[in-house]
Amino acid sequence: MGLLTKGSALSWEETQRYRDYVKKHGILQFINLYKKLKERENDEFKWGDEIEYMLVHFDNEHKKAQLALVATEVLPKLMQPENEAIKKGEEDLLSALWRPEYGNFMIESAPGTPNTSDLECFSKVEDNMRVRRSEANAVMKEDDFVMTLTNFPRNGCPDFTFPASRCTPLDTKSFLRSLFFPDECVFPDHPRFMTMARNMVQRRGSKPVINVPIFVDKNTPQPFMDDLFGLDTTGNDLAQRAENHVYMDCGGFGAGCCCLQATFQARNTEEGRRLYDQLIPLCPILLAMTAAAPIYKGYLVQTDCRWGIESQSLDDRTEEERGLKPLQESRHVIPKARYGSVDSYLSDAGSLYNDVDLVVDEELLKIMLDAGVDVPLARHVAHLFIRDPVLILKENLHQDDEKDSDHFEGIQSSNWQSMRFKPPPPDSPIGCRVEFRPMEVQLTDFENAAFVIFIVLLTRVILTFDLNLLIPMSKVEENIKEAQKMDAVRNGQFYFRRDIFQENSPTTPPFYTKYFKFLKKEYSQMSINHIINGKKGHFPGLLPLIKDYLKSVELSVETHTKLRTYLRFIRRRASGELKTAARWMRDFVDQHPEYKHDSIVNDRVNYDLLSKCRDLASGQAFDPSLQLERAPPLQAEDSDEEDWSQVDVDQTEN
Ligand code: GLU
Ligand code: MG
Repeated sequence: MGLLTKGSALSWEETQRYRDYVKKHGILQFINLYKKLKERENDEFKWGDEIEYMLVHFDNEHKKAQLALVATEVLPKLMQPENEAIKKGEEDLLSALWRPEYGNFMIESAPGTPNTSDLECFSKVEDNMRVRRSEANAVMKEDDFVMTLTNFPRNGCPDFTFPASRCTPLDTKSFLRSLFFPDECVFPDHPRFMTMARNMVQRRGSKPVINVPIFVDKNTPQPFMDDLFGLDTTGNDLAQRAENHVYMDCGGFGAGCCCLQATFQARNTEEGRRLYDQLIPLCPILLAMTAAAPIYKGYLVQTDCRWGIESQSLDDRTEEERGLKPLQESRHVIPKARYGSVDSYLSDAGSLYNDVDLVVDEELLKIMLDAGVDVPLARHVAHLFIRDPVLILKENLHQDDEKDSDHFEGIQSSNWQSMRFKPPPPDSPIGCRVEFRPMEVQLTDFENAAFVIFIVLLTRVILTFDLNLLIPMSKVEENIKEAQKMDAVRNGQFYFRRDIFQENSPTTPPFYTKYFKFLKKEYSQMSINHIINGKKGHFPGLLPLIKDYLKSVELSVETHTKLRTYLRFIRRRASGELKTAARWMRDFVDQHPEYKHDSIVNDRVNYDLLSKCRDLASGQAFDPSLQLERAPPLQAEDSDEEDWSQVDVDQTEN
């Protein structure tokens, strides 16, 4: 959950004027955080997940599914228990925390309290996600549902919202200027979203350009040109639109996507950096395994993930920064957008694998180094700070750099990278945290729980067995591209480290001690199946390592049984036996009688697809090609149906 302080946002002109001031103080704030971070020891391992949801309206009469622009209505209701709990000092009793997200058709939740190192909490993760889903569904209107969809397939198509909304691309007051995605779709009740959206367009000097290769089916016209007929296009739109690509033009296509994140509190900064680094090579693997976004703006596309689309849609680099013009006003040529995979490792071990040129703000780097910040972390922060602030709140402009951290957080939280390293906030019991951000949100709570638990277990295995998963950063970058390709789980080849045990380390399980003797090369290309499930004589596999780890811990039968089910699911997803949501959606569309094999996902197909997704999540439907087991009915305890079934049971017993 990003920074959500309320206040009044400065205009873009003012924001530019205070840019250097805010960056400088952001760095001074970071230095203060760093000094305190270094002193912290023995923080408890804690962790939590975050789920982003779409709000979907089902028009059952016209067989149409639309994005419901109701976050402003439902959020106050969802946040009420939290507000009351804060007053009473009873925050520990909350089941969920609710927050706004970019779209007025989105909301976000996290568990009310973080989980701890007690592994028994694994048996509660899915239940908590289900409680959250039903809490949110309870405040939705009868035909509206919260859905864990990575992308709404018809986002940007005519009439895709409820209530209806309108694009005004030629109106100078419009901040998005999109041909497809109306300004009203952005969450209006917090300055963060609208102001950032506006400022990013202003900063870039134009709308973003998002071109995604279309999936060419047997009846897709060749060459395909995205139809802009009847829209208020400018010459720029026509020039940017590319052949055989779906053309999109605003942040709403990426920031309007939902993901699944997990945050871990480390024991101290060393452990935090180590976890950060070790999880970096896993980002592409988990992105591929969770792939869930094969349809954009009503077209099947050639890629399976939100990642590249989100990156293009949140690209606020100027032409100079993009290398299209010689540097005059801008300071650096920057290879990537603010949304993207990380570019550097933070630990000493990781630094050896930093083979990607890191663009840094030299002046700010020097301030940090002079203040005693170590080189890898100083370079990391100096890299984040090549970006400008895109939201400054008037109330926060002048801060006490010892006590506040908003200027640091402002830049940190608008660098949407695959991992995030979070120093402890000032004067807070919270320690050093690491956020794992690449995963696409899954259709069901079972899958979301399974992936979150899998990644939590991997952190335990990495630390317990002292694993080393590092590969050159340039190879991680290649893997990120591989991960987004269609069916990457089944067909992709990923660079992965082979000698993952530290030589002569006492933590290596005995079975594996001889393992690295056979290795000639540190890493090679492997399928996801081999990485996760292992390949005899070649690679031990991450799941077998988790199983070894679990042998050494005591668990209740209930938790053990649940864990086995989650891990079985992970094994089958990795082996390709179970489909990713992306593959499952493609097949659903392909087999739909209304689909004309022309790449177009029309309203009817979308309605049926989303109805099915909704029913899979609630347990009303089950599909063994995607799921291991049917979702149990949503939160039966306090619903009326449960009481009735209770009565039935009693009667049959009589
Ligand atoms: N929705 C974004 C994504 O899909 C993440 C936004 C956030 O950091 O909360 O990656
Ligand atoms: Mg979020």
